Amino acid sequence: MKYSKLFGKTLRQPPKDATTVNHRLLTQAGYVEQLMAGVYTYLPLGLRVLTNIARVVREEMNLIDAQEILMPTLHPKANWEITKGWSNIDVLFKLKSRTDKEYALGQSEEEVVTPLVKGRISTYKDLPLCLYQIHWKYRDELRAKSGILRGREFFMKDLYSFHDTQEDFQRFYEIAKKTYLKIFKRLGLTAKVTEASGGGFSEKISYEFIVLTDAGEDTILYCDSCDFCVNVDIAKLKLGDLCASCKKSKLKQAKGSEVGNVFDLGQKYCKDFDITITGRDGEKIHPIMGCYGIGISRIMGVIVEKYNDKNGILWPKEATPYQMHLVGIGLDNKDILSKTHETYRKLQNKNVEILYDDRVDVSPGEKFADADLIGIPVRLVVSKKTGDKIEYKERDKEKTEMLSLEEVVKKVHV
Ligand SMILES: [Zn+2]
Repeated sequence: MKYSKLFGKTLRQPPKDATTVNHRLLTQAGYVEQLMAGVYTYLPLGLRVLTNIARVVREEMNLIDAQEILMPTLHPKANWEITKGWSNIDVLFKLKSRTDKEYALGQSEEEVVTPLVKGRISTYKDLPLCLYQIHWKYRDELRAKSGILRGREFFMKDLYSFHDTQEDFQRFYEIAKKTYLKIFKRLGLTAKVTEASGGGFSEKISYEFIVLTDAGEDTILYCDSCDFCVNVDIAKLKLGDLCASCKKSKLKQAKGSEVGNVFDLGQKYCKDFDITITGRDGEKIHPIMGCYGIGISRIMGVIVEKYNDKNGILWPKEATPYQMHLVGIGLDNKDILSKTHETYRKLQNKNVEILYDDRVDVSPGEKFADADLIGIPVRLVVSKKTGDKIEYKERDKEKTEMLSLEEVVKKVHV
């Protein structure tokens, strides 16, 4: 992509109303544009990041035999009345049509996915069944001011699993947990799992996946030797206590941000929508359901909160909008211009995703500042000084190296 053609350039000044790092940097670097509080447009660079995060999630979901579907975000009121969500969920967005029909905007999709499977499963042999989607969700937040961390509209992966026994749910939960931790690791995040009760409406357990970051809204106690993690507000434990789970390490304290969750829904939704199947002993049973969320746009915000310095963003490899940022210096010189263009074309032909700063009338200092702000992991420079080599620099290091094109390509695929 030629930077001169890119829609959504860097801004000289951060937005005045930005109170969080992710809002400030993502806007200034040309990734997002706030439409109103909690609602954002993703510009070309931002959409590439969002798509990359979704790709990682999708790859891992498919590996555990979850099947992707796409459900509507506009839901009939009737389904939400069946589950009592219409009156019980205060963050549910409600709409009225011109014929006075009422609708909800999806904040979770049990009200759609449960009736969807009705009639499509009839015995335990049809289970487990795991369906997921990656789509927009809506929450009527009273205050939405943490950039893309907590939006009124946000991009999310939600998976729903159906099981004939509690044991099978537990078995699948363990698989989902490992998969979640793998997803976060691929995206450069360390996540811990907290266990909490279902929040008063049910005795069922829910799990939260918390990423350790100073920008997090939760304070947690966690163990370095195992997954153990609790929210400090509810825990009787304190910093320095021995881990209650593995008893190997003392608990540490950190700030954290929730990036995923799992709910054991029990039989609630299958009872609400009257779904029965034939169980292993021939009796009629209601299946057990689990719900598993990952905030895709939220992860993008958390990554920026965690990976930044005074000059801008530092994207992890799997999330970055482009693999390399090629900067041409002195492009008013015909020889340098053609050499930089050739480098760009050759790297593209080697399947390197590359953002090419081809602007002629911009100073080197400004180009380097933009490259740091945008935060692609590798910066390449072609100039009069570089001769037949390319200057290679990683975003998080000071050191530069002079490499041949082949050596640059090799670096991408390590
Ligand atoms: Zn432990």
